[in-house]
Amino acid sequence: MEHFNLIFMGLIFADLILKRYLNYRQTLAISNNYSKVPPPFDKNISLQEHQKAANYSLTKLRVASVELTFSILLVFAFTFGGGIEFIAQKTALISYPLSSEVLIIISYMLVSSILSLPFEWYKTFKVEQKFGFNKMTLGLFIGDQIKGMMVGLAIGIPLLYLVFWLMGSLGNTWWIWVWGVLVVFNLLLLVIYPTLIAPIFNKFTPLEDLELKAKIENLLTKCGFKSQGVFVMDGSKRSSHGNAYFTGLGNSKRIVFFDTLLKQLNHDEIIAVLAHELGHFKHKHIVKQMIVSFGITLIGLFIFSLLINQEWFYHSLRVETMNNATGLLLLFILTSTISLPLAPLSSLMSRKNEYEADNFAKENANKNDLISGLVSMYRDNASTLTPDSLYVKFYYSHPPAALRIANLEK
Ligand SMILES: [Zn+2]
Repeated sequence: MEHFNLIFMGLIFADLILKRYLNYRQTLAISNNYSKVPPPFDKNISLQEHQKAANYSLTKLRVASVELTFSILLVFAFTFGGGIEFIAQKTALISYPLSSEVLIIISYMLVSSILSLPFEWYKTFKVEQKFGFNKMTLGLFIGDQIKGMMVGLAIGIPLLYLVFWLMGSLGNTWWIWVWGVLVVFNLLLLVIYPTLIAPIFNKFTPLEDLELKAKIENLLTKCGFKSQGVFVMDGSKRSSHGNAYFTGLGNSKRIVFFDTLLKQLNHDEIIAVLAHELGHFKHKHIVKQMIVSFGITLIGLFIFSLLINQEWFYHSLRVETMNNATGLLLLFILTSTISLPLAPLSSLMSRKNEYEADNFAKENANKNDLISGLVSMYRDNASTLTPDSLYVKFYYSHPPAALRIANLEK
């Protein structure tokens, strides 16, 4: 495999071309539908709102294209440009108090998140701001970055120590053990996320509106749902985008409404959206998605275990320091840049789950309330109503608005 560097470059360029092509198609689909609100939305969404959504989506696509080019340059800088080798050599000199392998990974993470900071800043304070969605102050933005980094280190450092210890002491079967650790770790994270991690960034309060609460209790009992309850999150301190989600595992599971969504929707629409979230729970979507991702992780780790001891793998990507940390970094870069062919499969599964949740909502709430709630959410979040079909296949975790509504009306 002495020509792996050429294969690697070929894969990266193929990935770049495919992503560029998808962005181009999406841009075209939105531009071509700019002058007219598509039915059945023309009754509830004005031309002005429709064009705002189009401009918003087109702006985001332009930023994504620049970001894409930047990320490819970064991959080259870290590999052929000698970035990883540089980190490995520098960290070898200052390995106290962390082991040098852990430090290599942490340094890479820090460098790449600092380099992506300008994009995050631009998206928040230029794009979101321009379209009236941003509620974040610079102080909050910086605070979020610091908190995020702290949480990442607190969770990441012990995990990295454990993984490197397993890799160093278990011989060729390390990948099975590391997989086991990752599975347990993910489950643990899912249990502690709603109660310990999410509150670091947001305030969660039990729903106070008594009339709405009674309607919600009613629906929960009807669907046989037991949980820690229904919470309202202060999403409005960062953005006026509204959302609702279902999180947690076992006793920690809860339903979370953004305060912004509660303002956008009336009570009946909220009940219908809640019924949709309960549908995800009833169909065990979190569990199913986890099983799939654990399966993929196991296959991935097995492939890693075959590559990580191959000298050509390191040398062809210009890394001289051959150890488990540089190996994992190279594999991480390789997987994240070429996993696009797998995206349609996971998006397909996710869209199928959305239909199942919608169908559950149809049985347990009023479908017209869900439809009008969805239209409000599309309008207020300025989501495009006219995406490109191939773009949807790759990137959309939810079916496009028109298909979702057609399914509900069926
Ligand atoms: Zn859903």
